[in-house]
Amino acid sequence: MTAEQFADRHIGPGPDDERRMLDVVGHGSIDELMDAAIPEVIRWHGTLDLPAPATEREAIAELRAVAARNTVAVSMIGLGYHGTHTPAVIRRNVLENPAWYTAYTPYQPEISQGRLEALLNFQTMVTDLTGLATANASMLDEATAAAEAMTLARRASKSRSTVYVVDADALPQTVAVLAGRAEPLGIEVRVVDLAVEELPAEFFGLHLQYPGASGAVRDHAPLVDAAHAVGALVTVAADLLALTVLRAPGRIGVDIAAGTTQRFGVPMGFGGPHAGYLAVRAGLERMLPGRLVGVSRDAAGEPAYRLALQTREQHIRREKATSNICTAQVLLAVMAGMYAVYHGPDGLRRIADRTRSMALWLAAGLRAGGVEVVDGVFFDTVTAVVPGGAARVVAAARERGVNLRLVDADRVGVSCDETTTGAHLALVWEAFGVDPVVGDVEEALPAGLARDTDFLTHPVFRSHHSETAMLRYLRRLADFDYALDRGMIPLGSCTMKLNATTEMEPVTWPEFAHLHPFAPDEQTAGYRELIGQLEGWLAEVTGYDAVSVQPNAGSQGELAGLLAIRAYHRDRGDTHRDVCLIPSSAHGTNAASAVMAGMRVVVVACDADGNVDLVDLDAKIDKHRGALAAIMVTYPSTHGVYETGIASLCAKVHDAGGQVYVDGANLNALVGFAKPGRFGADVSHLNLHKTFCIPHGGGGPGVGPVAVRSHLAAYLPGDPSGARVQGAPAISAARYGSAGILPIPWAYLRMMGAAGLARATGVAVLAANYVAVRLREHFPVLYAGNKGLVAHECILDLRPLSKATGVSVDDVAKRLIDYGFHAPTMSFPVAGTLMVEPTESEDLAELDRFCDAMIAIRAEIDQVASGQWPAGDNPLANAPHTAAMVSADEWPHPYPRSVGAYPGGVDRAGKYWPPVRRVDGAYGDRNLMCSCPAPEAFEG
Ligand SMILES: *Cc1c(COP(=O)(O)O)cnc(C)c1O
Repeated sequence: MTAEQFADRHIGPGPDDERRMLDVVGHGSIDELMDAAIPEVIRWHGTLDLPAPATEREAIAELRAVAARNTVAVSMIGLGYHGTHTPAVIRRNVLENPAWYTAYTPYQPEISQGRLEALLNFQTMVTDLTGLATANASMLDEATAAAEAMTLARRASKSRSTVYVVDADALPQTVAVLAGRAEPLGIEVRVVDLAVEELPAEFFGLHLQYPGASGAVRDHAPLVDAAHAVGALVTVAADLLALTVLRAPGRIGVDIAAGTTQRFGVPMGFGGPHAGYLAVRAGLERMLPGRLVGVSRDAAGEPAYRLALQTREQHIRREKATSNICTAQVLLAVMAGMYAVYHGPDGLRRIADRTRSMALWLAAGLRAGGVEVVDGVFFDTVTAVVPGGAARVVAAARERGVNLRLVDADRVGVSCDETTTGAHLALVWEAFGVDPVVGDVEEALPAGLARDTDFLTHPVFRSHHSETAMLRYLRRLADFDYALDRGMIPLGSCTMKLNATTEMEPVTWPEFAHLHPFAPDEQTAGYRELIGQLEGWLAEVTGYDAVSVQPNAGSQGELAGLLAIRAYHRDRGDTHRDVCLIPSSAHGTNAASAVMAGMRVVVVACDADGNVDLVDLDAKIDKHRGALAAIMVTYPSTHGVYETGIASLCAKVHDAGGQVYVDGANLNALVGFAKPGRFGADVSHLNLHKTFCIPHGGGGPGVGPVAVRSHLAAYLPGDPSGARVQGAPAISAARYGSAGILPIPWAYLRMMGAAGLARATGVAVLAANYVAVRLREHFPVLYAGNKGLVAHECILDLRPLSKATGVSVDDVAKRLIDYGFHAPTMSFPVAGTLMVEPTESEDLAELDRFCDAMIAIRAEIDQVASGQWPAGDNPLANAPHTAAMVSADEWPHPYPRSVGAYPGGVDRAGKYWPPVRRVDGAYGDRNLMCSCPAPEAFEG
């Protein structure tokens, strides 16, 4: 008897479904279909060398064994990562709840009001605590947020200097990332110990840490004034918990605040994922990178949320972009915002006061025992001076199950947090060899440094403090939203496939959740084993020689890969190679990453079939031959086609001395059938939140590993912790990036095995072709490759219909909501089109439900075309229909209410009702408001 195969659970269509789909597509088997679809030049005919598939039970047992090889110690290392209690109601109802973790980025605001509200809470929390005007909806981590702050300062400063001053008391990983980002942009990061040294005469920006890595809380006001006097902008990397009791940076005129919200209920996860934040003073909001949630209104004039300033969104601006951030950390931002909602201002202040009391108590104990403690104001971190004895103290603490920070041979750092207890302090004192008797210690913060402004005054932060109220608030918001737990999300390029429960389970186990990224190696053996295996399996799948999981989104993998190419050329003396060829169809992050890597973007045209125009490619190569650094192509292309010219494209670029970067976002069409590292590419990033089952989280977390051929292996991202010296710059704050979610792709690969993975690819391609065949007589399919086949996604061209009828691609997307669907990808990569990617996880019934809805919508468009319904007042123009609208006493529309609410075949019992009508984005951009609106806005 064969054991139950996980692949049969992951892949939606069963054998009967598969046969019916193959009949419609006109192929005898999946193999035959794949033979026809994939060009033979790139086709790989082997079997992936992966362990035989484990069942779900076996995989969990193996993960338990791996987890057991990690040691959860009491972490008092600090440096931006702290112990925190995730409220159970948030852990279970957000982090472990598919209604939150399987949602997509809220580009369709009408079906995303829940997470948009949650993100608005997050933004309000950040602006209130920092005292700045506008915060975005999360960054990837503190170090990359600081790097974005640096480049923002560069753009906004009138200074001509290229010097960016970083205080020596900044987090070491932040300094490492800043240095790596600065170099290709011609920025000089100058680390200055501002406690004793002067500022240089000229600089464009200043980075301060508050409190410092040493724990010191200094009055930064004079430095801010001095920086402003020379035209520089000031960034303060501030700890939000400390800000509940310390003066807000905005009070002293700071321009930018950056940091992490990890200690707001998000486990350390050996480095991530957690939400970084970025906030700016008034006047800089339009320069803010990343996504920004704002308040607007819907078609009925009611307040509604949506992503603000979308045209400014960085990855849409391509080579004009100043940042490449796309996927951010939405799920973790939701958690951090909810932590603030649950505790409220008083609760947060209580946690902060208790944390500070612990640190005061710790210091008093050390002093009482004769240990020198560095003088000055601190919040949670104490630096003790033990000449020549620091390593001994750290080792003694480790023996007692406590991790401290070894600052240098003479100094030890000890950080307290929400989880610190008196028993922990006793162990620390023991490690220092002291046995003090200390009573309660109270010490007011000096007036100039104490917080003097209110925060979290909005009712949302004062209304959900009982667990019942919190549970219902979370349920209410989740119910507003459409995620994969309701139905298919056929988003081209995004691969919204199953995120299996078994894959998710280990994420919240303490042995994976509670490790500090700088914990000693002997405590992280399990993690490193898991990561080593995962990197090995990903190398096998892609045909590359080395993989780094450090980049915490696809965009960061792109930057890491391009920096590897840059370093490779430089090491060979090719310093002049700085041109990056990018086809016009590319994802916007490609061009943005190239600019950040110090390259010049040269666009290559696409031909009438959507393929890279090889004639134009020849011309561009000729023109830039000596300066050619790289080409960046997506494969299969963003048009959803397996281009046959890929092998010759790689050869042409190599002949001219360039390197080939293949954007691996579409790897779901290749796994088991072709390997980019074998068909001519030198480097790729993968999106583990697409192909390898990390849930999208409403816009993050993600993991974007970078994979390279051996000649680039030496240039993979270095370790940012400073503990190990490596040549290549770090790309994120932690050595393994968002390590905490790596058990997900590990479990996926472990349970699918070689055959399961290949079948998933085959079924994904079959499903896309099935949808293309069923819909092509209703909507033209824009591009196809070999034998008229598409790859794993297809583009439906609505432009002719829109031109003839005035019905827009937006109308169709919104009407799909009435039918109970999330719209496909809109207007990417071609404006006026929809790109459908069904994935292997949707069964035939769901694929048919989607096709039927699209066909019914086509018939509705015809009714508009024939004049039966007026152009401005029809079910498409008025979509989506809310319950309030169709149950209103007035119904002025020329079609029945039932057509609005329950179009063809919609299950009345299971109907999804959007909470708002169509959202007016432009209104909100004209009246920009990016924090929680006053409750009166919702009256009447
Ligand atoms: C998703 C995607 C990216 C960007 O990845 P993120 O993880 O969002 O940063 C890049 N290229 C393509 C083709 C994509 O689909």
